[in-house]
Amino acid sequence: MRRVGCGLLVAMLGLVGFGWGVGAQPVAPPAAFVDAYREPVARILSAATADHAAWRRLATLTDTFGHRLSGSQALEDAIAWSVDQMRRDGFDTVWTDPVKVPKWVRGRESLALVGPRRLDIPMLGLGMSIGTPAEGLEADLLIVSSFADLERRSAEVRGRIVLFNVAYRGYGQTVTYRTNGASQAAQYGAVGVLVRSVGPEGLRTPHTGMLSYRPGVARIPAAAIPVEDAERLARLAESGQTLRVRLSMEARHDADADSANVIAELRGRERPDEIVVVACHFDSWDVGTGASDDGGGCIAAWEAVRLLRQLDLRPRRTVRVVLYTNEENGLRGGLDYRTRYATTLDRHVLMIESDLGVAAPSGFGFSGNDAARAQVTAIASLLGPIGATHIGPSGGGADIGPSVAAARIPAMSPEVDSTKYFVVHHTHADTVDRVDPGDMARHVAALSAMTYVVADMPMRLGETIGTR
Ligand SMILES: [Zn+2]
Repeated sequence: MRRVGCGLLVAMLGLVGFGWGVGAQPVAPPAAFVDAYREPVARILSAATADHAAWRRLATLTDTFGHRLSGSQALEDAIAWSVDQMRRDGFDTVWTDPVKVPKWVRGRESLALVGPRRLDIPMLGLGMSIGTPAEGLEADLLIVSSFADLERRSAEVRGRIVLFNVAYRGYGQTVTYRTNGASQAAQYGAVGVLVRSVGPEGLRTPHTGMLSYRPGVARIPAAAIPVEDAERLARLAESGQTLRVRLSMEARHDADADSANVIAELRGRERPDEIVVVACHFDSWDVGTGASDDGGGCIAAWEAVRLLRQLDLRPRRTVRVVLYTNEENGLRGGLDYRTRYATTLDRHVLMIESDLGVAAPSGFGFSGNDAARAQVTAIASLLGPIGATHIGPSGGGADIGPSVAAARIPAMSPEVDSTKYFVVHHTHADTVDRVDPGDMARHVAALSAMTYVVADMPMRLGETIGTR
């Protein structure tokens, strides 16, 4: 599903886009300003794709520390390791900003069909769920296919465990059942909730992820089950059998724990106070090893800037790698950055986040004004050799989101086919084996080249040459 071979179209769009920017200042045609970058970009692309350094570093991260849930020792150990490695890599400054993060602990958990006959069902409690009583929770199962279906059958809900058996229609559309299902069912008296995993068809893999309890509604335990088991239970129920299930979860919340955002800078040679951020989140769920979500994005962002250092490409502006903490169950890292750097957000030229998998990108999604869009479109035209020339209608990421919204900072994310990412995301199967080393190298190449040119170009992104 990669969009390649549309370089001509992109160039045309770039020309059309120019002149739409605010202020109507005359601007250099795209070719003139990007021409100066053909040589350095070619060096970046060839260095990034010369080996599998990024994948190897991701393997080291995930093999050494495993998953990195907020509040875990593994996350803090991985943070300390990254700081040490970044210093060895020769970044100008590496530091950590302390952030207090929620500490949710899964504990032991299980689910079984106990009537009319016994069947153990693979499951993962949803992140931030409460646990069940120590002896577990046994109840009849009510299966619904949507929130509307739940409402229609609301009279049958009391005292039951509700299963939302909702087919996956893309993450954005389906994730509401995981996020809001527990409170929706609890308002009609449900005692527990099961959610058909939010992901494309996998291999009987449950997907965890955060739920959020609505204030004023009883909190009930909730867990995800594989697609295959949801379908089997639905077939059994349709055949008229009364299904009884037993859910046991030790999940609990401990006091907030100490964590940190990691920041590494390559200082700008002319305008060091203007900043381009390349970001990701370093925490993960507590299953698998968080390789695709989002260890890969972190190593890619880090490698993208390390390469500039290695190639002696020091841009005019400062480039900052930010490994955010606590995206999965709190977003405290992203919120801390917004608050801590509030007075310098207006000097953030661009924020890029990679958190949809490190597949080979077809380009970037971008949100910003028309002048900026024309400029990044022109820059992307240099990425033909890796097929990353497309600029999509919007870009961004959860962690950069608070800063981007607060200061209207242009935002970007690599445009990737995320099918593979959503198959393993939040599962035991999110391991480095699912990441293709060559694709990841192209991901790094695109990030590195885009970051370099935006940080180095004569005009600030979104502004025209005559305005500064
Ligand atoms: Zn993520």
